[in-house]
Amino acid sequence: MIFDSILCYDLTMHYDLILKNGTIVTPKESLKADIAVKNGKIVQTGSLENSCSADDIYDAAGMYILPGIIDAHVHFRDPGLTEKEDFETGSIAAAFGGITTIADMPNTVPVTSNLLRFNEKTCIAKEKSCVDFALFALLPNESAEIETLKRAGALGFKVFLGTSTGDIAPPSQSVLFEQMKVCAKAGIRIGFHAETSELNSYFTSLCVKKTGSLGQLLSEARPVFSEALAVQTAICYAQYSGAKIHIHHVTSLDGVKLIAEAKQKGINVTAETCPHYLLLNAENCAHKVYPPIRGEEHRKALWKAIDERIIDMIASDHAPHTKKEKELPVWEAPAGLCGTETFVPLILNEVNRGTLSLNDFVRLTSETPAKIWGIYPRKGNLLSGADADFTVVDMNRKEKIDINELHSKSKNSPYDGTEIKGKPIATIVRGKFIMKDGILPANKGFVNLISPEL
Ligand SMILES: [Zn+2]
Repeated sequence: MIFDSILCYDLTMHYDLILKNGTIVTPKESLKADIAVKNGKIVQTGSLENSCSADDIYDAAGMYILPGIIDAHVHFRDPGLTEKEDFETGSIAAAFGGITTIADMPNTVPVTSNLLRFNEKTCIAKEKSCVDFALFALLPNESAEIETLKRAGALGFKVFLGTSTGDIAPPSQSVLFEQMKVCAKAGIRIGFHAETSELNSYFTSLCVKKTGSLGQLLSEARPVFSEALAVQTAICYAQYSGAKIHIHHVTSLDGVKLIAEAKQKGINVTAETCPHYLLLNAENCAHKVYPPIRGEEHRKALWKAIDERIIDMIASDHAPHTKKEKELPVWEAPAGLCGTETFVPLILNEVNRGTLSLNDFVRLTSETPAKIWGIYPRKGNLLSGADADFTVVDMNRKEKIDINELHSKSKNSPYDGTEIKGKPIATIVRGKFIMKDGILPANKGFVNLISPEL
């Protein structure tokens, strides 16, 4: 990447914000540089003359400045399930977690499946959110709706091959195929929740009668077989319809192998995993999520897949529920965990442990999600002209996660007491601080729906 070496060659220029003395991080390099912001955009990146002026100058000495982190898989439960979360609390949690843009899933009440509902959710998010947001729509049954939702700004379409919160049934095979052909023409990507409903019901009915390690039973109840079959199905549809697809929350070696084969064949498939599949295993963790946390061999395989670029990105799959719901007997309780606030610190901790580089981290959580979902180069980089979204991190900050201090409405997290090193200390969306040193300035009402270019 080539940055301007000298900033402020126009000495009369007055900026809105200058970030000084930090180390900027891209997927390829880390270097000392200053960044100047005007009207919500990055104007210049390089070495700043002392005579430059700005309304606000932020000294980032000793800190790393990352392009704004994108959490491209959250469930903010708004509208309809706001006892669990809403756009205000969810986005505040995201801001404290160093996230500048979130992408919300359509399994709310009502489901985001047509233009009216899409526009309603956009209005809610604009009013309540403090981070930029993108919205997925459920893949509609009517072909005309695909173009309409694309024009309204949908980030992509979601298909639940396996049911999750909201119990949305998978589309029929013929509808799925026809709609994927329309998406192929429209150039819009389809994300799959890749599990197989009937197999999940069958294996769960067997597991509820068994005793043993709960983590392992939860994994057996929605087995790797269920994921593998759904991944294979999604890939097969992509191959014959020509549509671009994305596999959300991959959990297993078996899923990884199928995705690797498809990529080799030239099928346009991208893949995501989540911190809980990378950090926890079924042997030690019995937190209920869909798809479930797997055994250690799968956890290791996911890191290898990240290293080999078979898995392209990481997102939180933030899925809050009320305390009362999570306290139900395990087979009745809903699945999901709160992840948007802990996502960045947990993976930064892995950077400090040497599992991946900070440059890899930026690729997996900012640049690649922006590219996959068609919002690059507006998001996901530090070049002139991009939105001035930054996640400023202190790689030496040590903390213990306390779930009672998380900002989400719900506190269902398996990370209580986990010690981390590396933390976001400032979150900046289009030049505005939305989190600074653990304080949330009153910046709301300026956020945008972020949509792929038409
Ligand atoms: Zn999800």
